[in-house]
Amino acid sequence: MREIGCSEEELLSFFSRCKERDTSYDRILSSMCTRPHPVAARVHALFMEANLGDPGLFAGTATLERLLIQRIGELLHHSGAGGYATSGGTESNIQALRIAKKLKPVTCPNVIVPESAHFSFDKACDILSLEMRTIPLDAGFRMDVESLDSRIDQNTIAVVGVAGSTEYGMVDPIEEISAIARDQGLYCHVDAAFGGLVLPFMNRTIPFDFSIPGVDSISVDPHKMGMSTIPTGCLLTRDPSHLSLLNIPTPYLTVKQESTLMGTRSGGAVAGALAVLEYLGEAGMRAVVSGCMRNTERLIDGMETYGFPPVVRPDVNVAAFAYPKVPSGWHVSWTRKGHLRIVCMPHVHRSMIESFLQEVGDSCA
Ligand code: PLP
Repeated sequence: MREIGCSEEELLSFFSRCKERDTSYDRILSSMCTRPHPVAARVHALFMEANLGDPGLFAGTATLERLLIQRIGELLHHSGAGGYATSGGTESNIQALRIAKKLKPVTCPNVIVPESAHFSFDKACDILSLEMRTIPLDAGFRMDVESLDSRIDQNTIAVVGVAGSTEYGMVDPIEEISAIARDQGLYCHVDAAFGGLVLPFMNRTIPFDFSIPGVDSISVDPHKMGMSTIPTGCLLTRDPSHLSLLNIPTPYLTVKQESTLMGTRSGGAVAGALAVLEYLGEAGMRAVVSGCMRNTERLIDGMETYGFPPVVRPDVNVAAFAYPKVPSGWHVSWTRKGHLRIVCMPHVHRSMIESFLQEVGDSCA
């Protein structure tokens, strides 16, 4: 490190040059994150120094975290849900499986996930020494529940369903999955990191939340469709006492025990996440989601016109195509099966979709 610090001017000039090398969201079609809503950025700045890792010191920010969980619990049909703000879907999924492991202590535990599960489950299973059993998808890219029963044994501790899959935007049949889990006395976790702030605002009802009796916990990420600053995820549990299974003594903090995975936690991001929900309200969120869904439809129609129908009709705003070319200048991604994948996030305006389609059209001509 430098012996003597540099001037602010020199510093900002270097930092600006680095920032210029970041890709503008105007060209990003692959991300599940988006530009934060201005209200999130503003409120984040107000709470910049708040550390939720020691909530007694930041009692006001801790109230905002409880309110965030309450608001999302209400959206997911369980106003009394337990939960806390995580650093994102990965932490929420790890913590959910930690709870399942505590609830059923067996020697060689296994967890059942659909083939479409996000790679955070690979990490979770590695960290928690769980065997990960994957269930194939049906023709509609949802978990094929037919084969679920046969994969469950006495060492199974949890079954996971995805509500808004990362690659194809599909919602697993959560009612069926959770009914099987319930019959077998198993924990059922729903990874709605993406879909959790899309599905409650759609015109069509796709069941995935606590209104389904067997669902024990849900991951929902405000830093995806909630347009909050990074990092903000949420883990919600039907039974608030389940979180205390993860309690660890924290003798030198203002609280004597903590169930979170992270120690220091961003109060700014949590305050910002709540701010967006309060500012937009349900009507505002419905408008954002319906815009994203309309853009997804337009993208699908346009690609179909050029002879590239979607691999599957998505439930949420993620579309995948068997389009082999790499569109120049656009940041897209490719699924594990090699399909072009586009996420129509709030920053992906109609004009971006139109220019992208125009380029696809030109390359087909
Ligand atoms: N679950 C799903 C369905 C996701 O799509 C993602 C990320 O895209 C995650 C979990 C992981 O979330 P994060 O990157 O916030 O940890």
